[in-house]
Amino acid sequence: MKKRQLIVAGNWKMNKNYEEGRDLAKDIVERLQPSQVIVILATPFIHLNSISNIIKGVSNLKLGAQNCHQEESGAYTGEVSSGMLKSVGVDYVIVGHSERREYFEESDALLAKKVNIVLEKGMTPIFCCGEKLEVREANQHLELVENQIKNALFHLLPEEFEKIVIAYEPVWAIGTGKTASPEQAQEMHLYIRNLLAKQYGEELAQATTILYGGSVNAGNAKDLFQQADVDGGLVGGASLKAEDFVMIVNSF
Ligand code: PEP
Repeated sequence: MKKRQLIVAGNWKMNKNYEEGRDLAKDIVERLQPSQVIVILATPFIHLNSISNIIKGVSNLKLGAQNCHQEESGAYTGEVSSGMLKSVGVDYVIVGHSERREYFEESDALLAKKVNIVLEKGMTPIFCCGEKLEVREANQHLELVENQIKNALFHLLPEEFEKIVIAYEPVWAIGTGKTASPEQAQEMHLYIRNLLAKQYGEELAQATTILYGGSVNAGNAKDLFQQADVDGGLVGGASLKAEDFVMIVNSF
């Protein structure tokens, strides 16, 4: 059985041209100290190959993608397959980011297929879940996240599920500068862990890495990461500056 890991993943979203991406990755490599934290750069597709070479040799620095198609290959113009990602050295794939759910109408059923194909190719899905503001205000956030997880992940066998990383990202906190309080994050993370324990048993639940995402920055990361069930962060805006990103990595 795997161990719970500490992870900080940077989601660059649709930012940085080719040269800018190389510069950012090199800057991060230079600043990063050896540590037990796994650091993931989830870059746009165009960067994957070159950044895979830049981070080679830094054992705790890994390459991530932000999405992939659910089929193996074929007539899906403009799409990128999981096999292609694997072939350029990708280890982690973000699945179900709220921006993809919202702008590309990705459903839980579709996300279940994406999770499957990422696992089949030997990569780790970072499965995102989280509620919109109106859901939290209606006090239905726990139920909504529970359903997202059940619908997209609970078909997995325990030996498949143990490879999953979960990222709880309240939609109202993404890119807004409004972070969930450490208590709000902990409440949801514990709820998720208990849910996993019911489905897969306590041992597997305790071994699952659950990240928090939503306006994490160098100032608030420490308080969030100190929570018992917060195992790191998925970081958007603050991952685009090497200094800030590495400060977040150093916040455990
Ligand atoms: C994200 O993109 O997953 C995210 C959490 O973004 P930000 O840190 O900018 O809120």
